[in-house]
Amino acid sequence: MITIDRRSFLARTAAGTLATSFAANFPEPQRPQSRDTLLEPAFRPLPLGSIRPLRWLERQLRIQADGLSGHLDEFWPDVAESKWFGGTAEGWERAPYWLDGVVALAWTLNDKRLQEKVARHVEYIISHQRPDGWFGPYPVDAVKMHYDLWAVLLANKMLVQYHEATGDERVLRAVEASLRAMYNGLDRTPLFEWGQYRWFEGLVSVFYLYEKTREPWLLELGRKLRAQGFDYREFYKHEDITVPTPRRGLWKLQKHVVNAGMSVKAYALAWRLDHDEADRRVPAEMIDTLDRYHGQATGMFTGDECLAGKNPIQGTELCSVVEFLFSLETLCSVLGNPAFGDRLERVAFNALPATFTSDMWAHQYDQQVNQVQCTINPDAMWTDNGPESNLFGLEPNYGCCTSNMHQGWPKFAAHLWMRTPDEGIAAVAYAPSTAGFQAHGTQVTVALETDYPFRETLKLTVKSAKPARFPLMLRVPAWADGATVRVAGAAAEGMKPGAFHRLDREWNGAVEVGIRFPMKAKISVRYNEAVTVERGPLAYSLKLGENWTRVNADKPHRELPHGDFEVRPSTPWNYGLALDHRNPAAGIRFEERPVGEKPFSPEGAGMTATVRGAKLPGWKLVHGWAGEVPPGPQESSEPLEELTLIPYGCTRIRVTEFPRLKTKT
Ligand SMILES: [Zn+2]
Repeated sequence: MITIDRRSFLARTAAGTLATSFAANFPEPQRPQSRDTLLEPAFRPLPLGSIRPLRWLERQLRIQADGLSGHLDEFWPDVAESKWFGGTAEGWERAPYWLDGVVALAWTLNDKRLQEKVARHVEYIISHQRPDGWFGPYPVDAVKMHYDLWAVLLANKMLVQYHEATGDERVLRAVEASLRAMYNGLDRTPLFEWGQYRWFEGLVSVFYLYEKTREPWLLELGRKLRAQGFDYREFYKHEDITVPTPRRGLWKLQKHVVNAGMSVKAYALAWRLDHDEADRRVPAEMIDTLDRYHGQATGMFTGDECLAGKNPIQGTELCSVVEFLFSLETLCSVLGNPAFGDRLERVAFNALPATFTSDMWAHQYDQQVNQVQCTINPDAMWTDNGPESNLFGLEPNYGCCTSNMHQGWPKFAAHLWMRTPDEGIAAVAYAPSTAGFQAHGTQVTVALETDYPFRETLKLTVKSAKPARFPLMLRVPAWADGATVRVAGAAAEGMKPGAFHRLDREWNGAVEVGIRFPMKAKISVRYNEAVTVERGPLAYSLKLGENWTRVNADKPHRELPHGDFEVRPSTPWNYGLALDHRNPAAGIRFEERPVGEKPFSPEGAGMTATVRGAKLPGWKLVHGWAGEVPPGPQESSEPLEELTLIPYGCTRIRVTEFPRLKTKT
């Protein structure tokens, strides 16, 4: 028997995957000179408010603003009466979480009502900052009264966004005073618990202020945070990260799924600070390990609420979805690797919308890839979450997601386009949007009109007021074999998948750029050899009839429209798929539908797939959930039926990982 040292095994397998999935054609880092500065990111995000949504993305953000996001502070005590706003309720992460998403929402949508609301709350926070620099909820004697600094890291991350959107200098001064208090206080009251495991979130505001002031103490503060923080680099070298958390046990901060989603960006940020090339490789290695041992068809990894393995009945917490999205946006910016853009779209178009009702008034704590019913369930097979974790509701299981869910869509919209170091613009992810920027002093607008990801064509118009030379960099998804671009009616030009395609030319007036990313059906083989149908960035799931039942109506704050709901299937779900084993994608037929007013709803699905399958009577509910996917190819004597699949993001209950039927000979 050959024994392989686990550490070198993980390092080698990660490196092997990187060679294929992370293409070489992306911007090389600039290498400065001394550690007395920050290394330059590959791309810089545009200032908040420069990117505006169009078409389905605009509708989606409007739905969000008209749903829980735009109203949470009006009735939910942990925000409405937060200690951050002078109340007596929770005074830690919840109000800053809500603001962190709603600042981005208000300025991306240019919603004046929401902007005024946010401004009032921010005004309260900065006008109640203490002379010593700590914000209101921080205890006067923090040595005796422990206060987990995670909330302060989060509040500053929110405030720098607000400063970017408004230019309010007082807010920047408030951040500076807060970071000074932290710089002076960290030795006396070091990071512990959540702050210790989320130390890198502090780098967001530290870097923002450093780039405005060039004060060297800020870099020292960043290094102090890293030194006191948890060492994920070391943790990922050991076996524990690969092991699913057992049911009802071994809850660990280092395997907490939200920390996992957040921490994948840690070493990209740390690379800018410490100039250690080894740090640059860590984010891709971390994602690769999470995929290998806990990965799901949605681009997420399980965690309910610690990492839970590849079984599609384990869940993923909403907080981890929105945090992983923000991490991927950061990775696109710092490292400029197109593979992170592919992943960003996959999570944003699948895992994010699926875990909300289509009006965005209710959400789940945990979503499952095979989720055939969502009920109050004491027998649930979560590793350690409670019976209500997959209900759609106001605060199922725990209120963190209620306050943190808001950042998903607006930050995705705000990171679609980024600046290149040479005055150009990069399309990092695709959704209908416009962006404005200056190239060599000339005002330029890009407008992307498309129903992507439900369609494979994208029409981009670049408008320049005067002639201006700058590069337009288009991310070509790794799945887009045969991708083409056509500039100003010229012949179509091929583009290499898994790379940025650079169009460097003089732009003048309105120039149309036609893009096509051919989407082919693909079958991926997953847990227990179950199969998932994919096309482009979307995974497809069985469309089920839904029975919705209102529950918990007597609990506080559950007045409609913010009630709690169970969902049960009204049609059968236990099918295996009949696929041609030589060419499994051949038997699947895709059909365009209009993209609905609610783009991520069963009735609004912009694309459907038809596939043949037969019932598997032995595959049943267990503990009120879809049972374990039967392993390997299955026999069925039931008749074949035509089944309709719709994008995962459009479903609320679903089967996504199907057993394959044995081919009859
Ligand atoms: Zn949460």
